[in-house]
Amino acid sequence: MIRIAHWIGGAERAGTSGRVGPVFNPATGEQTGEVDLASAAEVADAVAVAKQAARDWRSASLSKRSAVLFKFRELLAAHSGDLAAIITSEHGKVLSDAAGEVARGLENAEFATGIPHLLKGSFSEQAATGVDVYSIRQPLGVVAGITPFNFPAMVPLWMCTTAIAAGNAFVLKPSEKDPSAALFLAKLWKEAGLPDGVFTVVNGDAEAVNALLTHPDIAAVSFVGSTPIAKYIYETGTSHGKRVQALGGAKNHMIVLPDAEIDAAADAAVNAAYGSAGERCMAVSVVVAVGDAADPLVDAIAARLPKLKIGAGTDPESQMGPLISAQHRDRVAGYVTRGVEAGAKVIADGREAEVPGEGYFLGVTLLDNVTPDMEVYTDEIFGPVLCVVRSKTYAEAVELINNNEYGNGTAIFTRDGGAARQFQFDVNAGMVGVNVPIPVPVAYYSFGGWKASLFGDTHMYGPDGIHFFTRSKVVTSRWPDPGTSSIDLGFPTNR
Ligand code: NAD
Repeated sequence: MIRIAHWIGGAERAGTSGRVGPVFNPATGEQTGEVDLASAAEVADAVAVAKQAARDWRSASLSKRSAVLFKFRELLAAHSGDLAAIITSEHGKVLSDAAGEVARGLENAEFATGIPHLLKGSFSEQAATGVDVYSIRQPLGVVAGITPFNFPAMVPLWMCTTAIAAGNAFVLKPSEKDPSAALFLAKLWKEAGLPDGVFTVVNGDAEAVNALLTHPDIAAVSFVGSTPIAKYIYETGTSHGKRVQALGGAKNHMIVLPDAEIDAAADAAVNAAYGSAGERCMAVSVVVAVGDAADPLVDAIAARLPKLKIGAGTDPESQMGPLISAQHRDRVAGYVTRGVEAGAKVIADGREAEVPGEGYFLGVTLLDNVTPDMEVYTDEIFGPVLCVVRSKTYAEAVELINNNEYGNGTAIFTRDGGAARQFQFDVNAGMVGVNVPIPVPVAYYSFGGWKASLFGDTHMYGPDGIHFFTRSKVVTSRWPDPGTSSIDLGFPTNR
């Protein structure tokens, strides 16, 4: 069993709280490690080290910061296989999926190498006679990231690359279910030449989170996780004077219009619903089949399911791995049971699938004739369960999405450009795909949902990330000209 410690001041530091949490290999059900759970006092120590480091780091030149980011990017690319293996060992997702996660996180490092350009302010010469006005963006100081289990490398990379490039010290509290990826990133940052204390990992649970949310030296909190916790983080962090962005859960709908290419839509639905065992915040969990699309679409999706290979993520043949824990697997299976009781038609039942060994596996479920009042529709299940809601018209389908509590991602499948454009205009969601089922924005845009999928007003990474991790200052400047100086108690104007 490995012991997973904290990372403070550029080195591993064993916990002193006396509290630890178990870490499992979800493919075997074996406990593989123990993670230290930080006390509030340990969090305070880590923040004090980060605060010291932040003072020097904000003075580092833009070219020095950019050089560290370039080196970090190279190391991440060189070690992407090692990082993917760590993700698979604690999360369970298949290796190719873990490699995809690392590749998307790498994009954020690439974006952040451009920090000299990204931090450029604006300048207005001669705003008044002899007066220039310009704006600059400065780092916040010590900022924190609190991240979920389902992307143990990518989500921390969404945050830390931008925060650090912008000149902050970053304290990460990763998920206690799969914390090793965070420690691996810490080692890469050190090797890349990042000064000690600029990247910190405090492992822990609610106690560590609450310590960060209330610590006076934490200026901002970036959070990704479930909606109830996101709401709590937003309310608690902001009431303690912090800037907070808190991304929550999702129920992502994919509309299929009757003119869509049905086989392509079925492939997309299967990939987006069951990839990573449905444990993605951008997973498609509801297909809205409009009119005549429904029967052929359900048949096409059903035909693909028996061929899916479920198994350990380390097996190159596996397409879908286990769920994160036994408890979560049972929770997802419970939803299937209640969905059937509520009247959904079972096309495939994951509870009956043959699965390997003692791991936390569950087969794939496809439920047809789901209605909006059913729990399988209203709740985020976060497992390999795809619901089909049949809708008579496009308008009814859009209304369904717009009435849903969540508004993370959504997609439309059609050959009709006009319908796609209308959908983009009508739909209340933060990320929209047109014949693209998982429209996670590239790193030079920003990621975020609407409604209960995001609390706060800035999205994650990209331009919004730069905005979130910096604050602006506007300077109005005049160089004295004794010839024009006089006494005037009136309010300054620029005429
Ligand atoms: P979670 O909310 O249980 O945990 C997220 C983080 O919050 C973890 O670091 C955890 O330690 C901490 N936490 C948990 N309970 C807490 C409490 N009571 N008080 C303080 N901190 C607490 O989420 P999860 O199960 O790790 O991740 C899955 C969820 O994350 C899903 O709902 C998924 O949709 C969501 N998610 C959203 C996005 C997005 O971009 N919107 C991305 C990935 C995951």
